[in-house]
Amino acid sequence: MINLNFHSPEEEIHHPLFLEKNIRVYLKRDDLIHPFISGNKWRKLKYLLINAEEAGKKHLVTFGGIWSNHLLATACAAAKFGFKSTGIVRGEDISTDVLTFCRLFGMNLIFVDRESYRDKQTIFNKYFDTDESALFINEGGAGKEAAKGCAELIEELQQQYQHIFAACGTGTTAAGIINGLNQKPSTLFHAIPVLNGSFLKDDIKKLLRNPVNFEFHTDYTFGGYAKTKPNLIEFIADFASSAGILLDPVYTGKMMYAVFDLARKDHFKPGSNILAIHTGGLFGLLGMKEKFGKQLLQIK
Ligand SMILES: *Cc1c(COP(=O)(O)O)cnc(C)c1O
Repeated sequence: MINLNFHSPEEEIHHPLFLEKNIRVYLKRDDLIHPFISGNKWRKLKYLLINAEEAGKKHLVTFGGIWSNHLLATACAAAKFGFKSTGIVRGEDISTDVLTFCRLFGMNLIFVDRESYRDKQTIFNKYFDTDESALFINEGGAGKEAAKGCAELIEELQQQYQHIFAACGTGTTAAGIINGLNQKPSTLFHAIPVLNGSFLKDDIKKLLRNPVNFEFHTDYTFGGYAKTKPNLIEFIADFASSAGILLDPVYTGKMMYAVFDLARKDHFKPGSNILAIHTGGLFGLLGMKEKFGKQLLQIK
């Protein structure tokens, strides 16, 4: 039996800005769910794994880049719940901390060039056409089943929030949370895309059970996927040293930066409760440790 039930805590973040604006900000600590099956990746894998087991699939095949939180989560979850795993990795065989952990968890890695990587089904068929036990899991776990797991986050909440924030890569987590809110008019969802492109808003909409309005903030991509700027790094360092909580520069750093920026711009009514989802993924920090370290030295 696969059991991926876990309630992560909601923790209030104290900051002079929030006092001044008379708002309360909480962080849902999904980063505490598991060190490797971290944050939203745990929620996204839940029904994929349960369905895989029911369908008699024994081999998880999935896709990602050399720093993919999803590859790492899948590798660890496969080991934990008795599956074989294969990771199809975009680009050349460069050893990273994430890929080293994937290998440790027993994941078999296949490297494919960027061009072929685009057509995931063709690659899957090429290697696993005759393997009945192999299950295709899309990059990032994206899709309906993953959104279903993310929707459950809402049932766990201990109090009412007027605003909920999450970072978006594929938008699956965002869509799941919006579905979980179940058209509750008192809560507005805010999507913080971490990459440029308006397709993401449509990708979220495609996964919604009902059409619901949400805010889609395009000002916090910091130049694109996995791109950073000195003010983002400075923010992550300030937050770490004042709250004792690490954020990663790819997802949660940008999301939390948005919460602070919008608070500063009086986007929230006084008296509002705001929840930001810490979707985990701290290995993203290791992926940038050199660049990050150098910039930190310049800032401090
Ligand atoms: C993968 C990831 C996301 C993006 O989730 P989507 O469902 O693809 O939008 C957000 N935050 C972290 C830390 C992640 O690892």
